[in-house]
Amino acid sequence: MPLTTCPDCNRQVSDQAPTCPACGRVFKKQKQPPQEGCFLQTLNIGCLVVLGIIVIIIFIIIIASFK
Ligand SMILES: [Zn+2]
Repeated sequence: MPLTTCPDCNRQVSDQAPTCPACGRVFKKQKQPPQEGCFLQTLNIGCLVVLGIIVIIIFIIIIASFK
């Protein structure tokens, strides 16, 4: 079983352990494959929001120019 060093107490603990058995520090999970996907999804949603705002602004300018 691979070991990792606890950053708080510098003890060797299993990297499978959710918390350090010595000091109780909660470890972040090493495996994080969905984060990149989530980031891309957030980016896409952000792009859509920005695109929507730009379209609304253009729409308002077009309507205002007709008056
Ligand atoms: Zn510790």
